[in-house]
Amino acid sequence: MIDLHCHSTASDGSATPSEIIELAIQEKVTAVALTDHDTIAGLQEFQDAGKNTGLTVIPGIELSAREENRDEFHFVGLFINAESESLRAFCHRTRELRQERNHKILEQLPSLNYHLTLSEVEAECPGGVIGRPHIAAALIRRGYFRSSKQVFKTLLGRGCPGYIARQLPTAAECINAIHQAGGVAIWAHPFTRTNLTNRRFRTMVTSLKNLGLDGIEAYYPMHTQEQTREVCKAATENSLLLSGGSDFHGLHFPGLKIGVAYGKLNVPDKLLPPLQERARQYS
Ligand code: AMP
Ligand code: MN
Ligand code: MN
Ligand code: MN
Repeated sequence: MIDLHCHSTASDGSATPSEIIELAIQEKVTAVALTDHDTIAGLQEFQDAGKNTGLTVIPGIELSAREENRDEFHFVGLFINAESESLRAFCHRTRELRQERNHKILEQLPSLNYHLTLSEVEAECPGGVIGRPHIAAALIRRGYFRSSKQVFKTLLGRGCPGYIARQLPTAAECINAIHQAGGVAIWAHPFTRTNLTNRRFRTMVTSLKNLGLDGIEAYYPMHTQEQTREVCKAATENSLLLSGGSDFHGLHFPGLKIGVAYGKLNVPDKLLPPLQERARQYS
């Protein structure tokens, strides 16, 4: 069992990069990737902590993209060079856009009868990539809500009164940023898009492949067996690689563990060698 999608305190997870290594060993996965949102800041600690553990430790990232006004979609970059200056600059720009959006969300909250200061939100985010989960945590601490899920469902999620869209790079920009850093570009959790039909999925696979996409995340806690099968089929038919992971966020996604996720995930070890082979071609 492997896990190629995890978040740490460097973005919106609650476990430090070293704790992710410890948990991966506990959960008996053989390989683990750290894929924080819009940052490579946790990778050095992650790689250091993974040395001499017997684990295969994969430096990664997760980037969000948007085409026109559609839903966002996500890319996981695997085997990225933790010292890449181009990716560092890309992340820096993305985080500036996040900050602008965070300010807009906070400015709007009082009109919805929620009161929160930026420093309260910052206190929820020791790592630095502040996002909606940290705003949610601060609202919960103030006693407005009980769970992050509730905040997203009623206030900060798409379509809710406190929602503000984040300005995002295009898919091509994300894929290029990952490749420039020597990484393998994976379309993350495709079927978490609302109402994605198999037909639309196939159209998107074709267009992302034309942009240089390397693979698709098939094994994912929120994918049904049918969706996982459909991703595997599309990948085979389009000569794309397969990936999978739990999207571990520590305590922020209660009950979700590294490796098995909610108990049923089992990303096969055999997915790893082809991904490693592709990464060698890019480095
Ligand atoms: P942001 O990056 O600021 O747009 O916030 C998106 C992040 O919020 C995701 O990466 C998840 O970690 C988290 N998230 C998204 N939807 C939910 C939800 N329904 N409940 C809890 N956390 C969520
Ligand atoms: Mn997240
Ligand atoms: Mn994602
Ligand atoms: Mn993720």
